[in-house]
Amino acid sequence: MATFIVAMSCLNAQKQQQMPPIPLDKDVRIGKLDNGLTYYIRKNNLPEHQANFYIVQKVGSILEEENQRGLAHFLEHMAFNGTKNFPNDSKGKGIIPYLETIGVKFGQNLNAGTSFDYTSYNIDAVPTARKAALDSCLLILHDWSGFLLLRDKDIDKERKVIHEEWRTRQDKSMRMLGILLPEIYEGSKYANRLPIGEMEVVDKFEPKALRDYYHKWYRPDLQGIIIVGDVDVDKIEQQIKEMFADVQKPINPAERLYSQVPDNNEPIVSIATDKENPNTNVLVFYKRNIVPSDKKLNMDYLVYDFMNSLIEQMLSNRLQEMIQKENPPFAYAQVSSGSYLISKTKDALQFFAISNPNGSNKAIETIVREANRVKEFGFTAGEYERAKADYLSKLEKLYNERDKQRSDYFIDQYTNHFLQNEPIPGIADKYNTIQQMVNYIPLEEINQMVKGMITDKNRVVAIMGNEKEKYSPQADIKALITKTDNEKLTAYVDNTIKEPLMTSLPIKGKIVKEEQQQGAIVWTLSNGAKVVVKPTEFKDDEILISGFAAGGSSVIENKYIPEIKVLSKNFEMVMGESALSAGGLGKFSKTDLKKVLSGKNVSMGFSVDTYNEEISGKSNIKDFETAMQLFYLNFTDIRKDQPAYASFVTRTKGMLMNISSNPMIAFTDSVMSSMYNNNSRGRFIGTKDVEAANYDTMLQLYKERFANAGNFVFTIVGNVKPADLKPIVEQYIASLPSASDRSSFNAKVMPVRKGLFNNNFIRPMETPKSTTAIIYSGKMEYTLQNKIQLDALKQILDIVLVEKIREKLGGTYGVQVASEQEKTPDESFDIQLMFDTDPDRRVELVKAINSVISDIQIVGPSAVNIQKAKEFSTKQHADDLKKNEYTLNILNNQYRYKADFDTNYQKYIDQLSVNSLKEFAKKIFGQDNRIEVSLSSN
Ligand SMILES: [Zn+2]
Repeated sequence: MATFIVAMSCLNAQKQQQMPPIPLDKDVRIGKLDNGLTYYIRKNNLPEHQANFYIVQKVGSILEEENQRGLAHFLEHMAFNGTKNFPNDSKGKGIIPYLETIGVKFGQNLNAGTSFDYTSYNIDAVPTARKAALDSCLLILHDWSGFLLLRDKDIDKERKVIHEEWRTRQDKSMRMLGILLPEIYEGSKYANRLPIGEMEVVDKFEPKALRDYYHKWYRPDLQGIIIVGDVDVDKIEQQIKEMFADVQKPINPAERLYSQVPDNNEPIVSIATDKENPNTNVLVFYKRNIVPSDKKLNMDYLVYDFMNSLIEQMLSNRLQEMIQKENPPFAYAQVSSGSYLISKTKDALQFFAISNPNGSNKAIETIVREANRVKEFGFTAGEYERAKADYLSKLEKLYNERDKQRSDYFIDQYTNHFLQNEPIPGIADKYNTIQQMVNYIPLEEINQMVKGMITDKNRVVAIMGNEKEKYSPQADIKALITKTDNEKLTAYVDNTIKEPLMTSLPIKGKIVKEEQQQGAIVWTLSNGAKVVVKPTEFKDDEILISGFAAGGSSVIENKYIPEIKVLSKNFEMVMGESALSAGGLGKFSKTDLKKVLSGKNVSMGFSVDTYNEEISGKSNIKDFETAMQLFYLNFTDIRKDQPAYASFVTRTKGMLMNISSNPMIAFTDSVMSSMYNNNSRGRFIGTKDVEAANYDTMLQLYKERFANAGNFVFTIVGNVKPADLKPIVEQYIASLPSASDRSSFNAKVMPVRKGLFNNNFIRPMETPKSTTAIIYSGKMEYTLQNKIQLDALKQILDIVLVEKIREKLGGTYGVQVASEQEKTPDESFDIQLMFDTDPDRRVELVKAINSVISDIQIVGPSAVNIQKAKEFSTKQHADDLKKNEYTLNILNNQYRYKADFDTNYQKYIDQLSVNSLKEFAKKIFGQDNRIEVSLSSN
């Protein structure tokens, strides 16, 4: 506990007394029943008329014996297969079918998860207006706590589902973890307890073994229930006391031991490779002891937590800065400080990097060197100031929004309190405490703390690599670490930026016309741009801005396809950054821009999508003008930085080099090429595209797309006062350059394939598996009524496919259903179904899915399932109506597409019927545009 004691003792020296205890959030009711069960209840009205129900168990795969591997997770599945009050047989409904009738959706609102140390079950978004629903959800928690039926026949059925879940999850990462964990956790149970377990055990265990495990570990002294939402706290507490009284207090319970992780003197080096892994990930850990539960009670722990966050941030910033320079030492890097990978009994300062091809040693060496550098010289005053400003600005936003937190936020807090004794002071108390303390924490304190974290003992290096590269033997990597330890280092040099984002402001334009339209204000600006403003109070400190103009890459010629691909939003999502943002904005490089923006709560993204250019930004109230300056600079002054772009190219090429060795990338690429008839605009980007794309051309194409502000409609939603907004809009939007011509998109660049098309291909894989996508597409008018029908159809497919394909046939872990409604280039839809299965069962499952689709068209969906979809949509809509994102979406539909997606929403939900959905399904599926793509290992 070296680091913690350093931090604590220095603070204690200043105060000369013990720190006061951290207060407990006064808005949560916490109690414990005689049998040992802990409960947390809190009233919270966001979302309104809904509540979340959780049961958290201090039980996970770590408690399994060798011959029980997989039982903890198996048990979690059995919680949905028959309980005392929800038997799921002729005597009564099961949990899933019951909850669906009240609009609680399996997978989305109803879920569970098993980890090494904990298991949790949740029922979210329960409608609270019906008392019966609340009673039933409490009863479900009650049944989960100790009343599972665990019938033989249900267990046998579930073996297949779990086997399929294993197949879906058994990817490169899982396989490599299977190699790494035994080495980096040697001497600990964490070495061999991946929750999915051993299929040998899953396929063959005796049902009695599962029942014994259940009764041994599922018991009230290890269970906590958490209920947050629009509820009466006294009433719920009373009900808990009554309902859980029959849960027996355990007699001579087995001790819940926490598996320890041994220390190591010499570095541990572990290397795992996998054929399907395209890149090399390097992890370097500096392990340390956790803060014991009883040391988390006093204010010094809040200080420790604050200092730990800042260390994480400042180290990450240093690595980010290195990435932007020419010849970066790795393609990506970040730092975190918390649990040592998967263990709750050991913490670590953890460096994660994606190395360049054949660059794993360079990555390791750089990380070790930077760790040594900060240990020797510490952080600088400038770094500390900026990181502190960022931390405080996030905390301030949380404080400003303290009355408008969604229930999930509190659930997370109470879960961590129950499991690990993490403090729950409440937002206001935390904010006030940190505000008071922060100026008494000198930089030296933090430098002492990081010194304690970085030691030459307890180091662990893990490499997750591919089979094309050669990795140095472990002894050589250890020698490399020693060699780096002996280097003579110089201190990190920080150049502080004092200049403002914009030194001179553009000449203001004017608002030339103001209209009021259904609660929104529409301004027409002197440069032709339109701004739609809608003040809301859904959030106290949030403003959203979006912008849109027709055109996009559809109007860029085919000869620029490499440039189009590098500029595309898809590629930006894959890389986590856009090619042009590498150069920074205005006078500032990307690294300097980050410094200028420290302490500001702003984000601003510009992108060239297929059919339009888009802007999407967000800020708090205080920093809105800064957000608008970023907005202005993105339009007018995107910065060219040749070395920074060269660095971007090196990094992306490295990442893309072996990407096709990942079968899922190959699969996605063939889905896209099947859908768009091999159109090269739709194909996955490769290293050749990155090499071929010309930086100057891209800058030019981007500038052309954003040259004429008159093409754009902007929407601003959130806690804004139109009068305050006016001067800002005139300053930063009306001042943008414009021209009189209006842009439009080219609808013909990427037509979707029509008719029936199959592309089933085989490629050897490490785990025998078949992945299939079935895509229906076609014309559909862009109306609200169609949106609601399409949503309902998707939900009904979800329900039926779980019943028929997962549960009845045990054929897959799940069929994913996605649906999309498009306005551009044509008014259209698509529905995508995707699943993994055993290659030998692929054809059988495709047939079963086809018959589900044809039944919906011939007999229509069942009235029961329609009712379930209606309940869910009604509830979801009521919640959406109170969100800024939703309001923005409605306005965008109205002003971009002239489509009213607001009026009559509920009416259209109410109108859903067997007949209307049958007719709708016929219209959709009857167009006979069906693409099937599959990738199988044999
Ligand atoms: Zn599972």
